[in-house]
Amino acid sequence: MQASIAQEQFERMSGLADAVDQKFISRRVLLRNFALSAQTHRFSDASKLQAFLVAHENALRESFDNVSFLDLHGELVANLNGSAPIGKLNIADREYFIDTFARRAGVISAPYRNRFSGLAQVAVTQPVLDEQGAVRWIVSGSINLAEENFLGELARVKFGRTGYMFILNTKGIVIDHPQKDRILKHIDALGGRNPATARAVAGLEGTTEGMNRVGVYGLYAFKRTAQTDWILGGIYPRAEAFESIDRIERLAWAGAVVLTLLAGLLTLAVLNWQLSPLTRLHEHMKRSHLLASYVPYPGDPSQPEIRDMVRTFDALMLQREKAQAELKARKDRVRSILTHAADAFVSIDEAGAITEWNRQAERTFGWLRDEVLGKTMRDLLIPEAVRPAHKAGFDRFLHTGTGPIVDHRIEVMALHKDGHSIPVELSVAAVRQGNVYVANAFLRDITERRQAQADLAASEKRVRDITNHVPALIGYFDADLRMHFANEPATRLFNLRADREYDMRTALGEPTFLEHAPYLDEVLGGQEVSFEAASALGDGGHYQAHLVPDRETTGEVKGFYVMTFDVTKLKRAEQKLLELSRVDALTQLPNRRWFQERLDDALARSQRSGRALALMYLDIDGFKQINDAHGHGVGDEVLVVFAARLKSVVRITDTVARLAGDEFVIILEGLHQAEESRLVARKIIASMQEPMRLKSHRLVVTSSVGVAAVDAVASDHESAFARLNQLTAEALIAQADQALYEAKRAGRNTFSLLHT
Ligand code: GH3
Ligand code: MG
Repeated sequence: MQASIAQEQFERMSGLADAVDQKFISRRVLLRNFALSAQTHRFSDASKLQAFLVAHENALRESFDNVSFLDLHGELVANLNGSAPIGKLNIADREYFIDTFARRAGVISAPYRNRFSGLAQVAVTQPVLDEQGAVRWIVSGSINLAEENFLGELARVKFGRTGYMFILNTKGIVIDHPQKDRILKHIDALGGRNPATARAVAGLEGTTEGMNRVGVYGLYAFKRTAQTDWILGGIYPRAEAFESIDRIERLAWAGAVVLTLLAGLLTLAVLNWQLSPLTRLHEHMKRSHLLASYVPYPGDPSQPEIRDMVRTFDALMLQREKAQAELKARKDRVRSILTHAADAFVSIDEAGAITEWNRQAERTFGWLRDEVLGKTMRDLLIPEAVRPAHKAGFDRFLHTGTGPIVDHRIEVMALHKDGHSIPVELSVAAVRQGNVYVANAFLRDITERRQAQADLAASEKRVRDITNHVPALIGYFDADLRMHFANEPATRLFNLRADREYDMRTALGEPTFLEHAPYLDEVLGGQEVSFEAASALGDGGHYQAHLVPDRETTGEVKGFYVMTFDVTKLKRAEQKLLELSRVDALTQLPNRRWFQERLDDALARSQRSGRALALMYLDIDGFKQINDAHGHGVGDEVLVVFAARLKSVVRITDTVARLAGDEFVIILEGLHQAEESRLVARKIIASMQEPMRLKSHRLVVTSSVGVAAVDAVASDHESAFARLNQLTAEALIAQADQALYEAKRAGRNTFSLLHT
């Protein structure tokens, strides 16, 4: 930009220099023609020159400010601007005069000050020659430098607003300048130095830049003229030269600033627009804070992040609302529970004043809630005598608890409104609030419990009194066989100490315990069991024990009672009775005694009827082994089943009896022949093939049978009785016994028959 401005400036200066040259050329041509014209007149003296000059005034005046004729001595002899200076002015010493004279040709003078008018001028000369060609006159056309008529419009050339053109010559003399007073002075006459003009004087032609004497930084262009030694200079203040650029730059800056501002505003607007859903959400949040019930955010924001935020907020708020509702419900529930609690509930603040008092408290202590709120519990409920002690204890409890919660459960006496005291169980929990404890207390009226305890104690005493005077040993054992109770006779018999704990084994002693042991599973399974046993104490006594389960309503057996009676006397009496009896106690069959009576009868009947008769003698095979392998009880069961099977095989009129142990007899009567008894014997053996179904066993039991068969006897009484006599019952029995012996010998599970 700067280069192109400088170039343009230089081109303008070149144009100006050409114009100046043209002006000089035209003036020199004009002046030469004028001089040639004068030459043709051959003016020998000066008298006619003035008139000649004035006659050409019109032609000359356009180009010069003044035109004069000078003689060979430099005297002014004619003058266009009036005759006043004629004879009063000599320029013989002026260089241009001397040069013109010497060269006999026109020159352009250096600038000078007119000696008559004082004006700064340059002069253009032309010699007027005589016939011999010597210089006769010199014509000088002067140009006032301070006036514009020479340079004309050129003088008003401007660069920018304040830039200007100036002219100096190669000697540094100012020829034209807007400051007219500098004309004819040296460029440095004002002091200081302008490096740009200095360079121009030194020979620079072209452009440069620098600071002028008054501090204006400018672009300079210099161009020399061809006609004379003038240098045309132009100064263009840099500020002005670049004004437009600066303006553009400023504009650009302003534009940038405006753009930035606009961009900022736009960004703000966009941000605002972008954030507006957030702002709305924030407003919504603030509003929601004030509302009792949350209303979800209205609308559906388009930005996904904000939509997520809205949904999250909605969810959180609804959750919070739900939690609050639950909390409230829970509080209400707790309040309702406390209000309707079966115990009196009292809350006390740190000063001991009552803050809660439920319905049961009203019922228990007679005071209504409104009467007690704010009063201290101690003044209302604590009997006066123990108030100081209570205060000390309570204060300690309230203020020195170390944990966040203090728990306490005691039984105390409390006062009813009407003055009577009530036993209460006080459960108090102190909750730390800051530095103090606030207490919540449940108070349970335990009058009834106390009464129940007293009743229980009394009833226990009664039971003990009764059991102590019952002629029996009474005890109670739990499911782990720990003893919880023993009556006085049992305590005495087993030497039990009141201060010791016993289990059944240590209480009864090993032998007696072992007698009970087989029945324990049964009683703990819920069955009542009794058994009799000979006393293990070696006193020859017998006892009968009853084990009674202690069954809960749920069916669970918690333990059992043992009641033991001394049955020694009873046992002896029973033994005697049994001996008198005719029935076998175990099988309910006739015993030996009854069998003998019936055998006698049967023999008598046989003799009367003449019918055959058989006596069978049975013995179970390997019965000892059954006893040994399965126990005496199973052996007894076998005997019972065995008896039943025998009875099922024979006729109702036949007699089945148990003699002893596993020995049985059968009397078969009314046989047609004795041999019939063989069939019955087979039937008996066959009836034993089926296994016996016992309580806990299945056993096949066989029997050996010995049969003594007798045919009918003669009908005459004598002989009949005689046979009978031979055949005594004993003999028949012995015969049957003999037959049995044979059956056993034959390998058992068979029979043998002896026929008499
Ligand atoms: P065998 O085949 O020779 O008859 O052999 P066995 O083992 O049966 O021997 P024996 O008949 O001599 O055994 C009778 C046993 O019966 C002897 C006795 O211990 C037993 N006993 C006796 N009376 C009773 C009773 O009332 N009940 C029970 N269970 N066993 C009895
Ligand atoms: Mg036997």
